[in-house]
Amino acid sequence: MNPRIYLDNAATTPLLPEVVDAMAEVLKNNYGNPSSIHSEGRKARTCIEDSRKKIALSLGVSIGEIFFTSCGTESNNMVLKNSVRDLGVKRIISSPAEHHCILHSLNRISAEHPEVQIKFLPIDSDGRPNIEVLDEWLKRDPTYTLVSLMHANNETGAMVDLPQIASICRANNALFHSDTVQTVGYFPIKAREWGLHFLSGSAHKFHGPKGIGFVYINSDNHLSPYIDGGAQERNMRAGTENIHGIVGMSKALEIAIQNMEKNQLHITKLKESLLQGLHRLQPDIKVVGNNQGPSHFKVLNVLFPPDKKTDLILMNLDIHGVSVSGGSACSSGADAGSHVMEAIGIEPGWNTIRFSFSKFNKMKDVERVLSEIKQIIQP
Ligand code: PLP
Repeated sequence: MNPRIYLDNAATTPLLPEVVDAMAEVLKNNYGNPSSIHSEGRKARTCIEDSRKKIALSLGVSIGEIFFTSCGTESNNMVLKNSVRDLGVKRIISSPAEHHCILHSLNRISAEHPEVQIKFLPIDSDGRPNIEVLDEWLKRDPTYTLVSLMHANNETGAMVDLPQIASICRANNALFHSDTVQTVGYFPIKAREWGLHFLSGSAHKFHGPKGIGFVYINSDNHLSPYIDGGAQERNMRAGTENIHGIVGMSKALEIAIQNMEKNQLHITKLKESLLQGLHRLQPDIKVVGNNQGPSHFKVLNVLFPPDKKTDLILMNLDIHGVSVSGGSACSSGADAGSHVMEAIGIEPGWNTIRFSFSKFNKMKDVERVLSEIKQIIQP
């Protein structure tokens, strides 16, 4: 029997063996409470602070500007909600193609703070927000604003230019947060140099463990605690730290950064070959993500025209051992359709398949996926 092929790496990635080893070492031998002052406690504290240093260095920020959280969702919630609560933000500009953890946080802010304006930028056919309109809105109205725009869209891969947006925000005295959950470990990110105020990361997107993430909070924009009850994370987030998760995350990021260029080249070749093969099999497919700008090399979002054979393509691929996604997998199971595709205005009936790669995929995987798809659509 053929081994399964996992092409859903925008949803989550498999753990690296080196990460498992680093975590196992902590779980077995480093059980101290990092808040204790004895030797076991200090040993655990050292692990956390070494990890924080690695993450801060990789983003070009200070150690004191990185806070550990439980995931990207928490980091995004923290920035949006606490900016309103602590920094006097009176308007948030975002996009309708953001992840649900941004959109649902904005719904909550809007319900609890009706005085805060929430505005959504128009997006292009890839799901990319219109930055000229952002500039116009910021120039026209000086209300104190937080701009929150993701670096790469998790469904389409469409990317924005973070330094450009940061510079527009700076020129208009606005704060800038980016959900960089899909790009940390895949692209160089220079948070301070580029002028970002906040960014969010999540370990399980770059071959680290689930249940651990981080947030960068620029030291000029001090937020108050998000969880009360202890002095952990410099009072920002009470609760005994997830030491093995933190160590696993920093190890995974270190390896991702060491191999960034190599991984990018390898995965780009896989994406291009799959796309060429799909075009040969079915010339009338459409690609969403890179029509009007760059897209993440790991994401290939393809639309198949309405047809009985392609309606069940996702399920048939699964039966034949290939895991892909029909859009955002973050709410998989809830067959509610994709808010991103809806916001882009994709015609109903077209079937979206998101293929997302990792360094573990091989060219022979692409060949097999193409042969499985051929059997499904040309039986
Ligand atoms: N932001 C983006 C762009 C994502 O793709 C995801 C997860 O899919 C998240 C946020 C949420 O991250 P987490 O799963 O760590 O909560």
